[in-house]
Amino acid sequence: MNDEPPVKPGMIVGILGGGQLGRMLALAAAELGLSCHIYCPDQKSPAFAVAASRTIAPYDDQAALAAFAESVDIVTFEFENIPTETLRFLAERVTVLPGPASLEPTQDRLSEKQLIVDIGIPVPPFAPVAEQADIYSALARTGRPAVLKTRRFGYDGKGQAAIRAGDDPVGAWRAIGQAPAILEAHVPFAREVSVVLARARDGTTRAYDVVENVHKDGILATSTVPANLAPDLTKQAMDIGERIAAALGHVGVLAVELFVMERGADRLLVNEIAPRVHNSGHWTTDGCLCSQFEQHIRAIAGWPLGDTARHSDAVMTNLIGDDASRWQEIVGESGARLHLYGKAESRPGRKMGHVNRISPRSGP
Ligand code: AMP
Repeated sequence: MNDEPPVKPGMIVGILGGGQLGRMLALAAAELGLSCHIYCPDQKSPAFAVAASRTIAPYDDQAALAAFAESVDIVTFEFENIPTETLRFLAERVTVLPGPASLEPTQDRLSEKQLIVDIGIPVPPFAPVAEQADIYSALARTGRPAVLKTRRFGYDGKGQAAIRAGDDPVGAWRAIGQAPAILEAHVPFAREVSVVLARARDGTTRAYDVVENVHKDGILATSTVPANLAPDLTKQAMDIGERIAAALGHVGVLAVELFVMERGADRLLVNEIAPRVHNSGHWTTDGCLCSQFEQHIRAIAGWPLGDTARHSDAVMTNLIGDDASRWQEIVGESGARLHLYGKAESRPGRKMGHVNRISPRSGP
């Protein structure tokens, strides 16, 4: 991979997926003199408004994919529910980074957990649930409370059901649509943090400061840097991120979400890997010289990675549903920077934008 020539200014980056992450990647690419071609089945994709070209077609449309591959210099993706066959089809025609090896294990909660465990990193106790009868043996492994999660296509708390003391496990199985799942122990974490890092084509990595996340109803609400995390745990979290990125042979930005336990032998448990730019890295746009979006473009393009040092403290707040109607108040606030995604329709639970509130850098 390192032998391939770098992508140069003037060339075209193809992005699979047209959501807000694709939009912010396209904006960052434009600042580096690259243009973007967005491929997305959804006609109303927020990324279209800021990209030079678009293809509106399903992910299994081989003619459209072949034409897309022909028209771009490199392909990347902005969300992990792209079929791996799509990525493989494209990879036969054009450089695709991150490659299918990053996408495949992270699309499925079971293979993701197994990969993490195989490299010796702790996760909450879990067991696979392929059919209804498996729930009981899985519960014996995890205890209650537990969370049943579909193996595929879950995001923002969707495809999840809690099993507390007294709950009927079959009700949870029905609630997630009786899909192949995993059952996880519901862990009493003290806080949630994530590591956002980039891995370059030559395997060098650069991580942003560890960020502390608060979720509401399964959706990220705020991300704060610096995180309230002891230096030894900070170092461990960074190390976990690097080991996972190396195990995947990842090129690009990657995020690892972690639970921080108050006590115990394993204070950090991995919750989830995202093989892409991540919501908990949105603060970097205004808190660092090189945002996660620019960093992803640099990494896949074969450029040196950018500076990840935090020049400011930051609190990123997601604007969900009607929150975005307060845009006028937010743009009037000093130290606040508003980012709206240009989505026409607001729905409860839909991410409409975010605001980064910046203050002078404190502490380490
Ligand atoms: P996920 O989509 O798996 O990242 O879950 C969304 C959020 O639900 C997490 O960020 C946690 O706040 C919570 N959650 C998920 N799994 C667990 C677990 N095993 N124990 C405790 N909280 C969890």
